[in-house]
Amino acid sequence: MDVHCTTCGEPWDTYHLWHDAIFETALPANDAQAWGSLPRAEKLAPRYRQEFIGIGFYFGQSVINVIHCPACPDGAKANPERLATKAALETLMGDDEDCLAATFADYNL
Ligand SMILES: [Zn+2]
Repeated sequence: MDVHCTTCGEPWDTYHLWHDAIFETALPANDAQAWGSLPRAEKLAPRYRQEFIGIGFYFGQSVINVIHCPACPDGAKANPERLATKAALETLMGDDEDCLAATFADYNL
């Protein structure tokens, strides 16, 4: 299932975001492994958010809300309407990431 970058529209596989992207950061492998077992609310704690920013990922409240990605052209800005729509859906469905991912996928968000 793919979700799309709010800024450039690049598709990202949700499995990759949930399970693999963390291993592309500068985190030591054992820390990246441990990240997978963290409660959802802790997965974007400042330390991890910073690691993801280091590889070009800016997320909303969850890793499947990709606001900016490594494929974004330099200086690209997020589409404000898509940004607001995704944030609203995330607020509505944030407790159910599977549902959120399916909704993003359905609407090419
Ligand atoms: Zn992008």
